[in-house]
Amino acid sequence: MPFTLSRPAVIAASTLSALMLGASGVHAETPAQKSAAPDISITKVMRHLTALQQISDANNGNRAHGTPGYQASLDYVKGKLDAAGYKTTIQEFEFGGKKSWNLIADWPHGGRSGKVLMVGAHLDSVDTGPGINDNGSSVAAILETALTVSAKKISPSEHLRFGFWGTEEETYIGSTHYVDTLPKAELSKISAYLNFDMIGSPNPGYFVYDQSPDVAKHFNNYFAAKGIPTEPATALNGRSDHEPFLAKGVKVGGIFTGSAEIKTPEQVAKWGGTAGEAMDKCYHLACDTPANINQRTLDINSDAVAAMVWKLGVQQ
Ligand SMILES: [Zn+2]
Repeated sequence: MPFTLSRPAVIAASTLSALMLGASGVHAETPAQKSAAPDISITKVMRHLTALQQISDANNGNRAHGTPGYQASLDYVKGKLDAAGYKTTIQEFEFGGKKSWNLIADWPHGGRSGKVLMVGAHLDSVDTGPGINDNGSSVAAILETALTVSAKKISPSEHLRFGFWGTEEETYIGSTHYVDTLPKAELSKISAYLNFDMIGSPNPGYFVYDQSPDVAKHFNNYFAAKGIPTEPATALNGRSDHEPFLAKGVKVGGIFTGSAEIKTPEQVAKWGGTAGEAMDKCYHLACDTPANINQRTLDINSDAVAAMVWKLGVQQ
């Protein structure tokens, strides 16, 4: 098997998890506190990005399909989720003569509605860079949200499932494989698929997927409450892992902070930043490192991930 967790990594992760569970046992939360969406720690999110950068540094500067850097990225995320009590599954597929894998993590508690809320992000980078905004930013945000579900011992109304996709950069191969091989009865249980792809761009915009209005309205309400205007994420249409879900009739939602698109003066008036420059000048380049992340934006958007998981999956 290609996925080997080093012994010290396992011990460290489970010790950390035990400490976290112990702490939440001491300060027992009321049901109201549990049902409120949590504030996701940007410090912890950035720690995951540092780890992904280190993986890239040790693997020729990328975490791309068919490389040890991709496998190491998967080992890292799987180790954290296993230690937190998730049931993880590795789904193998092949592309371009090389094997790859999706990582699916199911939270084994709750789910009384019989519905599944699925949240996903692609875990691969391009072969020309470490892929920290694209898409470590979303991997770190959904991973930390998943770990917070565990730390708070949440029993959600919907079954929560997190997907970390392989080979997105070759036109969402991994997520397409997942959707194509999922039995129809399982597909019909998915109430919504929330996709995250680039959510910490350095010269950011706040774009919301508009394909499913009744999902989009919850994201728009979240940003409106923070006084942040949004625009539809049309630049991402046809370009990420929500597409195969949409094609099968699943409601989709998500957010995006921009890639090579040039920021207009009108957008600067709404969001700040620099007009006439790309929203992510390091898109698909070697400079897409943790230094390329707008931490204020990633903090807001990590909280948005958790707010939507709580709104659509936990509280209903
Ligand atoms: Zn991406």
